[in-house]
Amino acid sequence: MTRSLALIALALPAVLGAQDVPRLAARPDVAILLDSIRARNAWTLTQQTTLCEIPAPPFKEATRGLAYKAEFERVGLTNVRVDAVGNVIGERRGTGSGPTVVLAGHLDTVFPEGTDVRVTRAGTRYTGRGIGDDCRGLAVVLSVARALQNTAVQTPGTIIFVGNVGEEGPGNLRGTRHLYERELKDRIDYFVSVDGAGQSVTSRAVGSHRYRVTYKGRGGHSYGAFGNPNPAHALGRAIAAIADIQVPTTPKTTFNVGVISGGTSVNSIPFDASMELDMRSESARALDELDAKAQRALRKALAAENARWPRGRDRLSLVIDTIGLRPAGAQPDSARIVRVATAAGRALGFSPDIQASSTDANVPIGLGKPGITIDGGGTGGGAHGLDEWYDDGADGWKGPQWALLVALALAGAR
Ligand SMILES: [Zn+2]
Repeated sequence: MTRSLALIALALPAVLGAQDVPRLAARPDVAILLDSIRARNAWTLTQQTTLCEIPAPPFKEATRGLAYKAEFERVGLTNVRVDAVGNVIGERRGTGSGPTVVLAGHLDTVFPEGTDVRVTRAGTRYTGRGIGDDCRGLAVVLSVARALQNTAVQTPGTIIFVGNVGEEGPGNLRGTRHLYERELKDRIDYFVSVDGAGQSVTSRAVGSHRYRVTYKGRGGHSYGAFGNPNPAHALGRAIAAIADIQVPTTPKTTFNVGVISGGTSVNSIPFDASMELDMRSESARALDELDAKAQRALRKALAAENARWPRGRDRLSLVIDTIGLRPAGAQPDSARIVRVATAAGRALGFSPDIQASSTDANVPIGLGKPGITIDGGGTGGGAHGLDEWYDDGADGWKGPQWALLVALALAGAR
């Protein structure tokens, strides 16, 4: 009795702490794994470019997903499958007693169908749409799976490899949401997304509320129907009021009217006018407060425009459609998943900084569960733009090495 209690007491710190990460990195069999990632760097980069040249617009990730699934099978993952929303999943079973870790990259890009997604290379620099965000993450996840293919290194917990759909704006994190709500419900202990280039860790989730706001009326001739309320004028009032909203700088809270549209001609009162509004914050409360202020501004603008023309025959209406809701949330830097990630980086010779961002990790963080997003190594820029680039530099392989160490440590290896 006393004996088994003592054993439990001995085992616990290994599960809870991050202090074992340097020792794990120095273990001879793990060092061989790390070396194998470096030795296969060209393979990783080939995967990155090959996957990237398969278009994957939001909601149309299936073709890239099938290619990714074939690679999961090739590197020997088990129970390889595509779930109901299109997430590609494969597993490496643990020995049975440890936490389950998800290591994911996202399949989708922001680029619409028909975008040229060819990749060009100059030295270690690759240019192509999605090459960093998130073909880098997909390649890193694959590189970790391949490194584990022919090794005796075991983990107590299972590592689940995922190429998920729906990370970018329109997808509204539907892939990761599905993992938590259905496909891997109650199974995930740690969630690690690999997204983009660099050596940072995202542990705080910037939440966002996004709406399409439309003022509607009957429209009419600008001269003949003058005296009727005007949807474009209501929209203008609303935007002016939103522009004046005061937000805290800490926690950083922002708003943006990114798109406005409506109307048919200069001499017509429009029958509708709309805007797309994006609000973000690291704090769920600050985001809710901003949201409430914006909603009040929208309704006041409607009332003001209708009141401006009391004898007008038309009354405007207001329609608010939700484009996306991403939960906000924060984990302390002392959370185990964050400490493991920073310790693993240091074991590889770099110091990851800790950031706030909007990523697939918003889903677990919003649920109060451990989740982070780590960069995939190398450097990059121009994400979501037509000149996106990724540079593998002298040590891009540290990205997949980092992901490997993090996954091993979180899955209970020590
Ligand atoms: Zn991304």
